[in-house]
Amino acid sequence: MPRHAHGPPFAAVVFDCDSTLSTIEGIEELTAEHPEIAALTADAMEGRVPLEEVYGKRLELARPVVSDMGRIAERYQATALAGAAELVAALHHLGKRVEIVSGGLLPAVRPFGVQLGVPADRIHAVDLSFDGDGAYADYDRRSPLARAGGKRELLEARFPEGDVALVGDGATDLEAMDVCARFIAFTAVERRAEVVAGADVEVDRGDLAALLPHLLSAAEFEALRGAPGGAFDDLLARAEEARP
Ligand SMILES: [Mg+2]
Repeated sequence: MPRHAHGPPFAAVVFDCDSTLSTIEGIEELTAEHPEIAALTADAMEGRVPLEEVYGKRLELARPVVSDMGRIAERYQATALAGAAELVAALHHLGKRVEIVSGGLLPAVRPFGVQLGVPADRIHAVDLSFDGDGAYADYDRRSPLARAGGKRELLEARFPEGDVALVGDGATDLEAMDVCARFIAFTAVERRAEVVAGADVEVDRGDLAALLPHLLSAAEFEALRGAPGGAFDDLLARAEEARP
């Protein structure tokens, strides 16, 4: 499908999770004793090796137990970027579809996303299975999100019109940009030169309000200004301050 790049408005906004909605890489929370896992993650995110080469390897090293999932979800929440939940609420107020598409672990990403206000069925990541004792059994090997090009595949299937803005920091996000109307490289946590070079826009502020000028039309800004009780006034003020 040829790319139909355009500016706002967009019918949908999709966020990456790790280093975009939260400052952490979830899988690294499992791996304090495995420094080689951080190196594998960096190789994949910078596009030096295909994701599928490292996905299973990282999990075999980490062998997460079921209780690790809640712990990572709490870490995501504790390290959420400023403005994340407000931004989701504002996008929903405007009638947009908000989704999370992550190469992280679904049992940790989903509760975090739900806390931010994203419906559970719009949160996509790689599911894990555990045995009866809660020990790691396997990951969902059919998940496109555990392999290179998988975000692109999933986004193309979910948004065949391509009327979607994607926000992310990694090589797997950049790979998906040609099925999206706009790709915003979010670099407040991790700045990868090759991702920025390919992106339509870069946002480097650690307050997600800074995304609004790149996501909304003037009419949509007005609609948020008119929300009952000035619900989005603070978010809008921060967005204006960040306007390029
Ligand atoms: Mg990321």
